[in-house]
Amino acid sequence: ASLEIHEAADDPQKILRRVFGFSSFRGLQEAVVEQVCAGGHALVVMPTGSGKSLCYQIPAIARPGTAIVVSPLIALMQDQVAALRELGVRAATLNSAQDAELSRQAIRAMQQEELDLLYVAPERLLMDSFLELLDNCRLSLFAIDEAHCISEWGHDFRPEYHRLGLLAERFPAIPRVALTATADAPTRRDIIDRLALHDGRDFLGGFDRPNIRYGVQPKTTARRQLLDFVKAQGGEAGIVYCLSRARTEEVASWLTDQGISALPYHAGLAPEVRARHQERFLKEPGLTIAATIAFGMGIDKPDVRFVAHLDPPRSLEAYYQETGRAGRDGLPAETLLLFGMQDIAQQRRMIEESNAPDARKRLEHRKLDALLGYAETTRCRRQVLLDYFGDSCEACGNCDTCLSPPQTFDGTVAAQKALSTIYRTGQRYGSAHVIDVLLGKTSDKIRAAGHDQLSTFGIGTDFDAKAWRSILRQLASLGLLHIDLEGYGALRLTEKSRPVLRGEEQVSLRREVGARRKATASGGS
Ligand code: ADP
Ligand code: ZN
Repeated sequence: ASLEIHEAADDPQKILRRVFGFSSFRGLQEAVVEQVCAGGHALVVMPTGSGKSLCYQIPAIARPGTAIVVSPLIALMQDQVAALRELGVRAATLNSAQDAELSRQAIRAMQQEELDLLYVAPERLLMDSFLELLDNCRLSLFAIDEAHCISEWGHDFRPEYHRLGLLAERFPAIPRVALTATADAPTRRDIIDRLALHDGRDFLGGFDRPNIRYGVQPKTTARRQLLDFVKAQGGEAGIVYCLSRARTEEVASWLTDQGISALPYHAGLAPEVRARHQERFLKEPGLTIAATIAFGMGIDKPDVRFVAHLDPPRSLEAYYQETGRAGRDGLPAETLLLFGMQDIAQQRRMIEESNAPDARKRLEHRKLDALLGYAETTRCRRQVLLDYFGDSCEACGNCDTCLSPPQTFDGTVAAQKALSTIYRTGQRYGSAHVIDVLLGKTSDKIRAAGHDQLSTFGIGTDFDAKAWRSILRQLASLGLLHIDLEGYGALRLTEKSRPVLRGEEQVSLRREVGARRKATASGGS
């Protein structure tokens, strides 16, 4: 079979049809394949299921030599290799789980230029002896799968990925393709820096998962809310994400008591228990898994019908990836995020107490802010989510804010106060400082900057600091101000700020904030 393949070699269209049996490329595949076949580097950020594998597999077949594919997941590598061999592609894997003779065969095939793809774990690739071996082989490309693992800014940093940067120095002429399903702007930049992809191209797109319905509720009676949601799913399979191991066990046993068959899953369970729970989830219909984020990566169950977050995820990236495990089959799926201000406070504490460098802490806080902005938005949630990844869509009609628009109040004056304060302080300060000015706080920093002399000093006392934080987040998610994610979190005006400042456009904000208005603080409801 491999002979036929190599007759078709170097024409990507032919490889697509003859080897993979597909009639046409999807989305950005063709552009990526073209870039890599021509010897260029690429960063590919496309959601799970969108067909990232072909982006390097086709160039691997088209170009002479062996492609080295780095992946953190042994089980997935084995599946991929088996599937490729089925199609007649010369693929192999090297991993600690296989016997020595198989490894020797794979290496021999590579040395004789009779191997198209070799899948390896990063720690294997980075062994000196293996790198020396590669020095003497003909290589077609490096594909780095799950590339977000290289970035400490990403949501799943893996130390063994860190040293992959040396590929650029040691093999400068070999194209590098980094692939991931989720990476926001700072993470993308970090991947590009670490793998030295600066003169490559990035391919970003197709983030919309239209069959997933997004929903957020303020957390009130958490378990009751969760139970109502799970019951409404009519016995289908789903995942409930929790922050701690203990909680996954509590939730699973509580759900079981309520008549929903549920199992816990977390990294602290004995390996055989974990394997058994995962196996049952894949095979038995209608099982709910209460899990920490240890569950999911590499789980391929197409008919997960719901994903609930009992505790908030750490970022919108994590949220997108976790909710993205629902509805892989394209059929309708539902999500629920239960959102409590206390949880956020706890996460902020965890960030502060970690021994990460300050720049990292600031970034984590701002990622949390983006998540808050999403939770509090009055816009279509899908639009806010896609915006965050540099993608866009029309108001979707399939999220809770589209389906039952939230109660709002006229926040035009509040927005004008905030925006003009940002403007007058030079668009160089983060939200804490802007709020201090609005509230008329006289700190040393404010006096030193002369901000107590501004006309907007103290004009915002009709809201408290908490309400202002929410207003600023909402303005950001409305696109009326920009939070500099990569610097110190400075707030800046945008094109859309102007008409609001001139009084030409109204701004409506979510009602809960209005309720915290100081002037009307008499009622609590
Ligand atoms: P990802 O790595 O982005 O999660 P995969 O590469 O595993 O996605 O592809 C997801 C599915 O889509 C696979 O079953 C694959 O065979 C299929 N697929 C990929 N590209 C095409 C295409 N051009 N036409 C039809 N099916 C495709
Ligand atoms: Zn919507």
